Amino acid sequence: MSSYRIALLPGDGIGPEVMDATRLVLDRMVRDISGLDLTFTSHRAGAGLYRETGETLPPAVLEDCLAADAVLLSAIGLPDVRQPDGTEVQPLMMVGLRRALNLHSAIRPVKLYPGAPCALKNEGSGIDFVIIRENLEGLFASFGGGSRVGNEVVTDTLVITRKGTTQVADVAFRLAQRRIGRPSDGRQMVTCVDKANIFQSMAFFREVYFDVAKSYPEIGTEAVYVDAMSLYMVQNPWDFDVLVMENQFGDILSDLGAGLVGGLGLGPSAEIGEEHGLFQPSHGTAPQIAGKNIANPMATILSAAMMLDWLGDRNNDSVCIDAAVTLENAVAKIIADGRIRTPDIGGSSSTTEVANAIADALGA
Ligand code: ATP
Repeated sequence: MSSYRIALLPGDGIGPEVMDATRLVLDRMVRDISGLDLTFTSHRAGAGLYRETGETLPPAVLEDCLAADAVLLSAIGLPDVRQPDGTEVQPLMMVGLRRALNLHSAIRPVKLYPGAPCALKNEGSGIDFVIIRENLEGLFASFGGGSRVGNEVVTDTLVITRKGTTQVADVAFRLAQRRIGRPSDGRQMVTCVDKANIFQSMAFFREVYFDVAKSYPEIGTEAVYVDAMSLYMVQNPWDFDVLVMENQFGDILSDLGAGLVGGLGLGPSAEIGEEHGLFQPSHGTAPQIAGKNIANPMATILSAAMMLDWLGDRNNDSVCIDAAVTLENAVAKIIADGRIRTPDIGGSSSTTEVANAIADALGA
C-alpha cells in the first residue's frame, strides 16, 4: 500500500469552504477504499495571513510543500489586501510557489459533463479537450522584472526557451497517449497554439514543438494561431484533444474554456513539474460569496481527482489511479442527476450538501 502526504493550503475567500468540502470527500475515500492512504497537513497562507503577519507563504510552509507528495490549494487573494505598491499579494505568492516547486506545465481540462450548463447552443459530439500551458516562462517570465524608463516607457519581455518548451510539449504528448482522442473522431492529437506568423519567439515555440512530436509518431500534430483558436473553441471544440501553448495564451484561453463548460466552479487544474505537483481550482477567492456556504466545491474536488491520477501515474499505483476515476465519476453523477447543485450552475444547494452528495455517490 502506498501512502501519500498532501499539503493543504485552504487560503482566502471561498478557499476554506471548498477545501473543507474536498476534505470531507477525500476522508470518505480513505475510509472506504482499501489500499488508499492519504494523510494531510494544513497550513495558513495567502492574503489573510499577509494582513496579519506581512507574509503570504512562510518559509516553513514552503518547506512542507516541497517535502509533501502533492500540494492541494483552493484559492488565494483578497481584493483589499495589497502590497505597498498597490498590487495584490496573490500573484507574488503563486509565481513564487510555481518557481520554487518548478511547476513547468499547467493542465486545464475543458470537459462538458452531461447535465452541466453548456454555453453553446449546439454541443456537437461533446467537449473534452485539455489546455496545457507553459507555466514559468512566456510573458510571465517578466513577473517581478520588466523595465520602466521614467514615466513614458515600460516593457515586459516574453521568454521562450528550448528546455521549457520541450518540457511542456512532452507533457502534452504524454497526456495525449493516455487519452481517447478528440470527440469528433477519436484521433489522438496535440495542437500547438501560437502566433508564429508574427513573433520569432512563437516560431521557435512551434519549431521545438515539432521536434518533440518526432518522439510521438502515433499522435497527430497541427499548429493553429491563437486568434483562430479562440474562434474554433467556440465553433468546433469537439475537433480538439490536447492543446499546448505559451503561458499568457494559456491563461486567457483556459478561462474561455471554463466558460464553455459550466463556468469557473467546475474547472479543475494541475500544475506539474518533474518533482512536484500542485492542484487547485481554476477560480479565485470569489469574495462576494465567501462565508455563505454556497460556493461550488466541484472544481476543487475535480482537482483532487487530478492529484490522485498524477500520484498514481508517477508511482505506478493502480489503487490511486482507480480512486481518481471513482472520484471524477461521483462528481459526474451528481452533475448529471441535477438535483443537488450550487447556485452558480442553477441550483440552490449548499457547498456542504454537494460535498455530502459526492461522498455518497462514491460507492454507488
Ligand atoms: P480573485 O480575485 O481571487 O480571482 P474574483 O472573484 O475576482 O476573485 P473568481 O473567484 O475567479 O474571481 O470568480 C469570479 C466570479 O465567478 C465570482 O465572483 C463568483 O461569482 C464566480 N465563482 C468563482 N468560483 C466560484 C465557485 N467555486 N462557486 C460559485 N461561484 C464561483
